[in-house]
Amino acid sequence: MATVKLVNVNKVYDSGVHAVHDFNIEIKDKEFIVFVGPSGCGKSTTLRMIAGLEEITYGEFYIDDKLMNTAAPKDRDIAMVFQSYALYPQMTVYANMAYALKLRKVPKEEIDRRVQEAAKILKLTPYLDRKPRALSGGQRQRVALGRAIVRRPKVFLMDEPLSNLDAKLRVAMRSEIVRIHEDVGATTIYVTHDQIEAMTMASRIVVMKDGFIQQIGEPNEVYLHPNNMFVAGFIGTPAMNFMHGRIEKGNFLPDDTEDKIPLTGDQEKLLKNYEGRRIVYGIRPENLVFSGSSAFERVKEYSFEIKKDIVEKLGDVVNVHGTFGSAKIIIKMNTKYYSSLEDKVCVAIDTAYARFFNESTTKAITEDACEYEEAEQTQSLEEDNVIIVNLKQKRKKRSK
Ligand code: ADP
Repeated sequence: MATVKLVNVNKVYDSGVHAVHDFNIEIKDKEFIVFVGPSGCGKSTTLRMIAGLEEITYGEFYIDDKLMNTAAPKDRDIAMVFQSYALYPQMTVYANMAYALKLRKVPKEEIDRRVQEAAKILKLTPYLDRKPRALSGGQRQRVALGRAIVRRPKVFLMDEPLSNLDAKLRVAMRSEIVRIHEDVGATTIYVTHDQIEAMTMASRIVVMKDGFIQQIGEPNEVYLHPNNMFVAGFIGTPAMNFMHGRIEKGNFLPDDTEDKIPLTGDQEKLLKNYEGRRIVYGIRPENLVFSGSSAFERVKEYSFEIKKDIVEKLGDVVNVHGTFGSAKIIIKMNTKYYSSLEDKVCVAIDTAYARFFNESTTKAITEDACEYEEAEQTQSLEEDNVIIVNLKQKRKKRSK
């Protein structure tokens, strides 16, 4: 159907608010892209620029390699579904879905074919003669989707389409939209502030903050390899635990504790430039292993004790909040271990899942970032020629 490309797209509102900074993405045909981030991060503005409802201040926007910056919304071959589904109350479901095609003077038989086909995909066939007031919230939202589907647009844009529905219906509609996307196969861009929607629906997620893209990746990639502390904290519930501290002789020393968390061989290698320096140690709540659980034996070398605070019982799992030194920690554990919880909880880290962040830049420390770190160091030491020479020599040696 269509590819979408944004090149250095920016939005500066007349008020001076720079809402979107250098937005770059290439969206492949049939992809389901989700823009996610907290309120005010620029998701809707970006979507509205794609729809043509908002002018692109500078940058380029292409559909199928055709520059579309100045194309009128109706010429972009895009259909948008909003949070409020705004159906015509006096019209039947059929008439609501047929309306846009009628305006475009599509022949009657063709309209009927498309409406019936969309109704089948959306499971709305039995309701075509009903008025919207006689439908449930989920059915109404499906009619809104139907109105978009019948137009057979190149690109679907959806702006928080589920946020008016109750929690249970939202979950049901999530999988409905994924199924409909698979049936219709159109390139889709979906905006939400809900990271669970993003994780469950997207083929790729774009995480945004303050108008800047933080990371673009498949859901698992973003979850397992967040680029920075913001992404690590935003994606996943409860959020990733962060412990501040320093690296010393193959160990991580968390602030305000006597403990040492040993690094694995690979981690030591990764953090070789950080000896004696401060870092942030990140670990997800489900990667902290409770001493009562069977997996503890495998990772007990990396164990420490936390002071239990509040406990959230969610049925299948229990979130135990606690403190470790000056860090707030959450452990996610199976409910079956709940009865053996005491005030002091011994947990171990499944270290393969630990992530490390530069404390001052908040960026993830990765193999590539190590080189970057070194370059930064060289710059900041510009006055000190001796050290610069040393670093350069080291790098030369390595490249030999
Ligand atoms: P999101 O969809 O992520 O909640 P928006 O794209 O709506 O965020 O907004 C991004 C930023 O742009 C916010 O700071 C918001 O206040 C600002 N903004 C949005 N619309 C306008 C507007 N019409 N005029 C001025 N500023 C705006």
